[in-house]
Order: sequence, then structure tokens, then C-alpha cells
Amino acid sequence: MVDAYKNLIDGEMVGTAATLDVINPANEQVIATVPACGKEELDRAVAAARRAFKTWRKTTPEERTKVVQAIAGVIKDNADELYRLLTTEQGKPHIQAQQEIMMTTAFASAQSTLTLDDVINQDDDVRLSRTRRVPVGVVGGIVPWNFPVAMAFQKIVPALISGCTIVLKPSPFTPLTTLRIGELIKDVVPAGTVNIITGEDSLGPLITSHPDINKITFTGSTATGKKIMEGASADLKRITLELGGNDASIVLPDADVEKVAEQLFWSSFSNAGQICVAAKRIYIHEDIYDDLSKAIADYSKNVAVGDGSQQGTGVGPIQNKKQFDRVCELIQDAKDNGYKFLVGGDVDPSGSGYYVPISILDNPPEDARIVAEEQFGPVMPLMKFSTIDEVIERANNSDYGLAGAVWTKDTEKGVEIAEQLETGTVWVNEFLNLSPFAPFGGHKQSGFGAEYGVEGLKEFTYSQVITVKRDALV
Ligand code: NAD
Repeated sequence: MVDAYKNLIDGEMVGTAATLDVINPANEQVIATVPACGKEELDRAVAAARRAFKTWRKTTPEERTKVVQAIAGVIKDNADELYRLLTTEQGKPHIQAQQEIMMTTAFASAQSTLTLDDVINQDDDVRLSRTRRVPVGVVGGIVPWNFPVAMAFQKIVPALISGCTIVLKPSPFTPLTTLRIGELIKDVVPAGTVNIITGEDSLGPLITSHPDINKITFTGSTATGKKIMEGASADLKRITLELGGNDASIVLPDADVEKVAEQLFWSSFSNAGQICVAAKRIYIHEDIYDDLSKAIADYSKNVAVGDGSQQGTGVGPIQNKKQFDRVCELIQDAKDNGYKFLVGGDVDPSGSGYYVPISILDNPPEDARIVAEEQFGPVMPLMKFSTIDEVIERANNSDYGLAGAVWTKDTEKGVEIAEQLETGTVWVNEFLNLSPFAPFGGHKQSGFGAEYGVEGLKEFTYSQVITVKRDALV
């Protein structure tokens, strides 16, 4: 049976005559339809958000915290239903879908406690000068398909906490779990504060250029990020862009081969490699290259690729056909150039579902497409390096600058290397660990601005300085 999902506009669940199909990437079956919104529905949602802003902006921090905690509670209470639905539309294994749902509720709860306190600039006999933060207004949120729920609430929560209202557009590939949460929180959030509307990619530019939207917060590809920046320039909308990455992991010769092998594997293959901060290039010191590459390859042989709803699946399908074709193209390019695969490399085109086998490449050259481009799939290039200076230069040789990792027993050395990497986040001896209290954002073409923490919250506000002249002659 194909379910018909509705959008959340002004506190009501509403449908449209035109709809889009949503597909399960594990078997390519249509599982649901969602509204295909255009300008008319967007205008209604923006008008509702604008009306709600008048009241919501005046709420106290305590009132906002209460609403966000209620949202977190609803997601937690319905986690079982939500993670199963997430696997069905996104493809990720159940355990990883559970993690995404739990991360969403934990981060919402944690962020609900953030505050933007006033700052006193001057307080003397002459003058009192104070900086306060005021909400920018109506926010347009646009999110991708790899972590659809976490990314949606990464935008909804700070918008609400800072006193803004939001119109959120999920990816057309993965709108279902977000819409189901919309239905569940319909009576928890004041009408119009949170609106969720679905549509094709073409709905995105309508949001970006909408005259009554004050800020765009976007997560997705660098190519789309550039279009958004261009579109938002017409009326100088505020923007936050979380974009692509080509993260390097650097493994020093003192690393424990067995322990690091498993961690490196999952740093690249969680969510079938479709993570902005996945390790996409792995540089291993030549002294341990043979042992570590063998350990990673051996580990991978015990990980099953398959339908994420089946027990035992470690790596699910690629989320959509376009991305599947791109990953296949990069694998084919590696084969055409004669690069050696330690594992995988043969995609079976028969059967249904967008499955790519776990594929690990043995020391391809630095200018190979699989090294130079963001693959966003289960294909991991391992490369040898000799000196620290050389590997830092190779790691930084990218237009991207999202994250990176260093693996070593010598943490001081690890930090010294981390400080030389041109990325917004660097992990030493761990990976993919994000904090609701630490700013997350990219350097170079990986982004603009930051999310999470007080720094992320500030992006939803303007600063306003109020000065009172104390010795005024009045
Ligand atoms: P995408 O850019 O194709 O789409 C993202 C969203 O933008 C979708 O909702 C889409 O409908 C919308 N969109 C498409 N064209 C638009 C336009 N012209 N104007 C406005 N909106 C438009 O990205 P994707 O393929 O969904 O996601 C994969 C990319 O996202 C990867 O590059 C990945 O690295 C990146 N990503 C980054 C982060 C991060 O936090 N930095 C997190 C997850 C994913």
C-alpha cells in the first residue's frame, strides 16, 4: 500500500493535488507520495511563519526551551516507528537509523538549554551600552537526504530557540520521517512556527528568493550552496551553508593496527559512506601501510551489504539512483585507469536496489578522481605517505575543508598535525563525533558559517546595540 503523506502548514496537515513518489532504495518500490508544493503553498507557509513570528519572537527563553523539549520528547516516544520509517526511505541499517533518531532528540534537548545572553560593552557614569541578540525573522531551511531527520532538526531547533519561525523543505528523496514528526508535533508547537513543505528541487530556489524569508540555512552539496548564495544575494538574506567535504584521515606509524582498522572502516562506510564528514581519503604511513590495509580489508569481509531493514546488514544501499550512478562512475574510472582494488569494485547491475559493494582501493594516485572528488559512497581509497610535511600538504590540497582525523598514540603530535589541517573540525583518535555545544562548519568551499553551540545560534539573530547616555542633558 502506498501512503499519502501531508505537509505541515500553519498547524494543519495539508495535501496537494500534485504529488511526488518516494522510493525505498533497498528495492526501488514506491512506498509513499508527498505533496509537490509550488509557489502557492510556499506563500501560505511563509505567511503563516510571518504571522507566528510576531508572537513567537516575544516568548521568553523558558517558553522556547519548553517547546523544544516537548519536540524532543515526542521524537523519543515515537522512536521505534520513526527509525523503521527512516530505514525504509533512506536505506541505512536499522541500528544507524536508531542512532540518527536518538541523536536528533538528544541534540534538540541539549540545544534547548542554550541561551544568547546580553553583553555589556560599557557601563560607567557616561554611558550604558549593551549588545542583545534579536531573531532574524522567518527562516528557510533546506536539507539533504543522507541524515534527513538530524539535519531537519539541526535547523528547526536553533530557529525556535533564537525566536525565529521556519519553513523547512526536506529532500524530495527522504521527506517521510520528517513529515511524520511534523504530524506528531503539530499540537506541540504553536501554529505557524514550524512549517514543513515538500517538493522537487525546483522548490528550493523559490525559497531562496522569497522576499518574506530573512535567512536561509542549508545543508547539501557545494554546487547547490553556491546557487543559494547567489539567490540570497538579491535581498541580502543571512545564510548558513553546510556543504560537501573530502575529509582526510592520517594514520601515523605508531597507531595500533588492529584497533584502528575497525574504526577507520566505519569512519568511511557508516551510512554507506554518505556522510559529509566521512573519511574519504585515508593516508597511512608507509611503515604500517601493508599491515593496516590488510587489516581493513579483512575486517570488511565480515560486513554485509544489503537491505537495512534486515538483521545483520552493516552497509545499506545508496540512497538514490543519481548518487548510485555517480559512485558507479567513480568505480569505473578507477578500473579504467588500472587502479588496484583490495576489496570490491564490481557492481552487480542486475536485481533491484541501489547496492554498491564495499570497495577499497590500494594506493591510487593523488590525482585519481576517487581521491580528488567527494565520492559520497562505500568506496575507500588508501594511500601511502612518508613524511608528516608531505601528508599535511596532500590533506590540505583540496577546495573542501570540512573535517579530518589523525590517528596516533602520541596525542601531542596528533594535535600538532590537527592544527595544521585546513578544516573546521579535526578529530584525534576518533571520528564523526559532533557536539551540540561546539560549532560545526566548513573552511574553504565546505561552507559558510556554523551550526550548533552558541556560535550556531547566533546565526539566527542580528546583534542590536542599545546605548543610554547617562550624563545627557534631558
Ligand atoms: P543537494 O545539494 O543536491 O540537495 C540538498 C537540498 O537542496 C535538497 O533538499 C534539494 O531539493 C535542494 N536543492 C536542490 N537544488 C536547489 C537549488 N537550486 N536551490 C535551493 N535548493 C536546492 O545535496 P544532496 O545530494 O541532497 O546531499 C549530498 C551533499 O550534501 C554532499 O555533498 C554532502 O557532503 C553534503 N552534506 C553536507 C553536510 C554538512 O553538514 N556539511 C551534511 C550532509 C550532507
